Amino acid sequence: MNTEASKKAFSEVQNFIPGGVNSPVRAFKSVGGTPLFIAEGEGGYLKDIDGNKYVDFVQSWGPLIFGHRDETIEQAVIDAVKHGLSFGAPTLAETELAKLVIEFFDSVEKVRFVSSGTEAVMSTIRLARGFTGRDDIVKFTGCYHGHSDALLVEAGSGAATFGSPSSPGVPADFTKHTLLAEYNNIESVKKCFVDSKDIACVIIEPIAGNMGLVPADKEFLHQLRELCDENGALLIFDEVMSGFRATLNGAESLVGVKPDLVTLGKVIGGGMPVGAFGGRREVMAKLSPEGPVYQAGTLSGNPVAMAAGYAALSKLKQNPRVIAVLEERAKTLVSGMQAAAKEQGITMQTDVRGSMFGFFFNDKEVKNFNNAASSDAELFAKFHAGMLDEGFYFACSLYETGFISTATTDEMVQETIEASKRVFKAIKDGK
Ligand SMILES: *Cc1c(COP(=O)(O)O)cnc(C)c1O
Repeated sequence: MNTEASKKAFSEVQNFIPGGVNSPVRAFKSVGGTPLFIAEGEGGYLKDIDGNKYVDFVQSWGPLIFGHRDETIEQAVIDAVKHGLSFGAPTLAETELAKLVIEFFDSVEKVRFVSSGTEAVMSTIRLARGFTGRDDIVKFTGCYHGHSDALLVEAGSGAATFGSPSSPGVPADFTKHTLLAEYNNIESVKKCFVDSKDIACVIIEPIAGNMGLVPADKEFLHQLRELCDENGALLIFDEVMSGFRATLNGAESLVGVKPDLVTLGKVIGGGMPVGAFGGRREVMAKLSPEGPVYQAGTLSGNPVAMAAGYAALSKLKQNPRVIAVLEERAKTLVSGMQAAAKEQGITMQTDVRGSMFGFFFNDKEVKNFNNAASSDAELFAKFHAGMLDEGFYFACSLYETGFISTATTDEMVQETIEASKRVFKAIKDGK
């Protein structure tokens, strides 16, 4: 495949944008190679600036559950644009989207909109601290909650110890209130509650998608709920990725555990920048201007973004079977690839939750970040490069989740499986 134009563009942009990208994972660093520059998307496909076409399993890292250029969403955006891009004043679109979110999530009685998942989580943590009057928070190794200071704590460091910052520029003082626990390990959370009597909240991706796809055990989430209740801490489900992807009614509907607060993003904006957080009425009441916990945004609830989000969520509401259909397709995809790998003597762990799929080149089941990190990264890089060359665009890191959309057809899935057979064979033959 000829990608000269992308290579040239990447070498030029590096003079103007650090590392050539506006979000690090896009740079393809963990798989080697250089990123493709995208010219356009169409349904389940991406086209790069060299004119190559790829089946897209990234879908803008989650948001595009109806694929690229969905007609309904596109038209909603065009209509909204014609009334003005932004007002900084209430619009009816915000009420409509809020009602929909509340309808989908049992645990959400009130919701506030922001412009990214990072903002949603950052604000939720402040709210949990404001509500409980406590400072410490518990997060899990391998869970990603955006790039705000307190949550950028080294993934992979010792469980249940006070965290140290994982990025220069984050003062140790800012993360000393962040305690780390191990995913799917309740003892490590209990230890946090022994170490600190000042825990405001426990935040978790109930279906982790940022260490590859690693869903939490149902039993573990129930125990988490109990621990939080016993200790007066709030439980936060970060569903920025899994919300409207794994199921339409939140992980809470799958596991029967109600969180106090939920954070949303990605699908909720239909491809536009939207984040949201919501939860119990009395907790949300602490938020300014109803309460004292300050939180604001010039472009929050932006009318064009709200229109895109509303179009996406209404379409999901009208087609509630969508997730089940995508789940079947995703299962076909991963089991096909798993069988193709096995033919070449390669062991692959796979999982699916709704339209999210994950795979690890690992002999053992993956339950936490350490397990994920023990996967074969070199093999992943070869697989990624091989599939890309065949015209299949997978996330460029083994710590990411794959996504299918309604525009990812059964034929595309079969083509992907066929291509994976060739790629695994070439890898085995040492090509
Ligand atoms: C993507 C993501 C975020 C951050 O959202 P941004 O919109 O990238 O700021 C937070 N939490 C989870 C679980 C995510 O997947």
